[in-house]
Amino acid sequence: MEKICKYCKRTFKGRVDKVFCTNHCRTAYHNETKRNLQKSKVYKLLIDQIQNNRKILKALANASNLNMDMLVELGFSYDIYTHKEFNKKGGEFRYSVDYGICIVNNKIIIRES
Ligand SMILES: [Zn+2]
Repeated sequence: MEKICKYCKRTFKGRVDKVFCTNHCRTAYHNETKRNLQKSKVYKLLIDQIQNNRKILKALANASNLNMDMLVELGFSYDIYTHKEFNKKGGEFRYSVDYGICIVNNKIIIRES
């Protein structure tokens, strides 16, 4: 029976239940599937963190006397962000989509873009 390999898409002859033309294709397919699954897990973690960061920054945008411990306590991650912007004084704003955070002399500034 003529079949099409699930990995390389070449035709091959084999048993009805055979899906791959060679062991190489079977292994390569499973390795690729596993890699893609790991990648999508990482993407999901990053997206979840960005969404959580944004929610925290939005909620605290008008709050005063903030410190990083408070934000971390809420689940904020300073190292995960979508992009950076620098203000005229050289302060670095790290954005979670449309909300940015800047730390100046241990003081936290949050702004909406
Ligand atoms: Zn193949």
